[in-house]
Amino acid sequence: MAERRPDTIAAIATAPGRGGVGIVRISGTGLSDLATRLNGGTLPTPRYAHFRPFLDEDGQMIDEGLLLYFPAPHSFTGEDVIELQGHGGPVVLQLVLERCLALGARLAEPGEFTQRAFLNDKLDLAQAEAVADLIEASTTAAARSAVRSLSGAFSGAIHDIQDQLITLRMLVEATLDFPEEEIDFLESARAIPRMEAIRTALADLIDRSRQGAIMREGLHVVLVGQPNVGKSSLLNQLAGEERAIVTDIAGTTRDALKETIQIAGIPLHIVDTAGLRDTGDAVERIGIERTWKEIERADVILRLVDARTGLTAADHEIDQRLPAGIPRITVSNKCDLVGHVGEAHESPEHPVHIRLSAKTGEGVHLLRDQLLAVAGWHPHAEDTYLARKRHLTALDHALDHVVAALSRTDALELMAEELRRAHEALGDIVGEFTPDDLLGEIFSRFCIGK
Ligand code: GDP
Ligand code: ZN
Repeated sequence: MAERRPDTIAAIATAPGRGGVGIVRISGTGLSDLATRLNGGTLPTPRYAHFRPFLDEDGQMIDEGLLLYFPAPHSFTGEDVIELQGHGGPVVLQLVLERCLALGARLAEPGEFTQRAFLNDKLDLAQAEAVADLIEASTTAAARSAVRSLSGAFSGAIHDIQDQLITLRMLVEATLDFPEEEIDFLESARAIPRMEAIRTALADLIDRSRQGAIMREGLHVVLVGQPNVGKSSLLNQLAGEERAIVTDIAGTTRDALKETIQIAGIPLHIVDTAGLRDTGDAVERIGIERTWKEIERADVILRLVDARTGLTAADHEIDQRLPAGIPRITVSNKCDLVGHVGEAHESPEHPVHIRLSAKTGEGVHLLRDQLLAVAGWHPHAEDTYLARKRHLTALDHALDHVVAALSRTDALELMAEELRRAHEALGDIVGEFTPDDLLGEIFSRFCIGK
């Protein structure tokens, strides 16, 4: 059978626009010829920076800059890689890229370099995703967390648990051949403490990953309250700048149904339910339907009441339509008009109740802290993982199967099956059993040249 050679791909790796330096990257097999022809006949020394002209087919100089040649397998993709660091202008970069295409490369798809790195075992799937997350990171904390995943800390934690599972599975499966020893096995192999250790490790990893998912995807907050109670004013206070429109006329928040602000680097997607009134207007109804969809996936419900009146009948009516089981915070606003500003007290009916003034800002810091805490945010300073929903789902699956295994001490065969499935769920995260279409979907969201 003929050896299947993946084709050669090329792309501009630097951001569009003008910059001091612009980079064209090429990856493929057997690129020494291409490297030689590009710079006029010299084969570059591997992994050395050469200052060279980049030539067109007539030997005319397109640009000059650094040429780097990384022969397989010691490169980002694991293939031969050439990097051309020229001047960062869109036209000159396009000319360099076109020259590479003329020499037999084709334009890379989004994420294709990283995908090749994954296929050549340079990165596992969680690390490959961290490449995209690092590029997209919008806060310092997110960038730190992404780079830790990229360096393999998250994958390492997964592999540790997988190793424990492998040991246990070998013990269980070996015992399956000797049914009369089942009872002794649980004792002598310390199967139960082993499973409990795995369960604890998974729960810890899930916690850290959930923090990371909050960091990455933010929290969904629903703001409930009658017109004029001070929702827009509170949003402004939380955002720390004049963002929403504050007016004395009820119903002006109608078009600003969703707003994203940041607290301590965490994006908060705040949906204002002011628009949730009965209406005959078709366009408005579509907006209301969308709002309800948002509400269903809320992490926190923020109920705003006027401190002078407390909860009204209209508040109770909306209350009954809100999904149960989502944590709530009751905020008494306009406390500057009645006193008692800034006190937070708890009662069984309103577990978290904060009195504040959106006008003066007093007491708002209490809400800031509570909002994150109520949603389950308690950052491990240095060791959160910037996990994706996909990772959390897989981790939850793995934990479910380990818990199920623990309840199967009476039937080793079923226990073995649960452990196998826990192992498989973890394999999904690092890409061991991940189907091609999911891989395609993950990499297609990368930018071109990465
Ligand atoms: P929304 O309709 O719920 O968004 O309410 P707004 O934020 O637009 O506020 C309605 C009115 O209440 C405005 O005149 C605000 O200045 C006023 N207001 C909002 N919060 C406070 C507060 O804490 N104290 C006082 N005294 N007035 C407030
Ligand atoms: Zn408003």
